[in-house]
Amino acid sequence: MPERLVLWDIDGTLVRAGNVAKNVFAVAVEHVVGTHPGEHGVVMGGKTDPQIALEILAGMGIDARTGEGHLPVVVERLEAELACAVELILERGRVLPGAAEVLAALHSDPSVLQSVLTGNTAANAATKLAAFGLERWLDVEIGAFGSDDRERRALVPVALRRASEQRGWEGTTDDVWVVGDTPNDLACARAGGVRCALVGTGHTPVDELARLGPDAVLDDLSDVETVVKLLTA
Ligand SMILES: [Mg+2]
Repeated sequence: MPERLVLWDIDGTLVRAGNVAKNVFAVAVEHVVGTHPGEHGVVMGGKTDPQIALEILAGMGIDARTGEGHLPVVVERLEAELACAVELILERGRVLPGAAEVLAALHSDPSVLQSVLTGNTAANAATKLAAFGLERWLDVEIGAFGSDDRERRALVPVALRRASEQRGWEGTTDDVWVVGDTPNDLACARAGGVRCALVGTGHTPVDELARLGPDAVLDDLSDVETVVKLLTA
């Protein structure tokens, strides 16, 4: 029975999807509102897809209530557009150094259950992971997504409940790692009472991440042996 549970953020941690997601958000918003949001400066890192969509709408001067009304259709469109953009994701994006190797190593360790904890909706997470062939190493069904709750801080309990209900996981919060690339990933881990490793492969410099005091901080995942040791120790 696996005790260790590792929950991976996707963007900036396992992969970079180029600027594809940003463009797809704009297209989805334009489809619903009728106006392209232009160069929306919304910072996407560490946020959930619904949060990003709402911030783009707000930036266009759309009031919060109308934005909420648009949200389900924007997200639906976003998921459809991203699913059609797989080739572009592959062309402009990449798997981050060591990510595939670490996932493969943990997958082969029977004491480890690993899934995702991401601001992506479940559909968008599936699109990005499948684009790079990473889903084969992840138990995606027990993950937690931006489609479960728009507040990332609420997502650790979602993953723990799924792991326990669907896989009989009986670990404690000490057995759980969240791995991410932003202060929001740390806040989410802390809210869930689990451990957190931050990697410097997103947009936040590694020294800035270190100052936040996560349980571990790494430049990237390229030192596979060290990363595996850290997450299984
Ligand atoms: Mg991220």
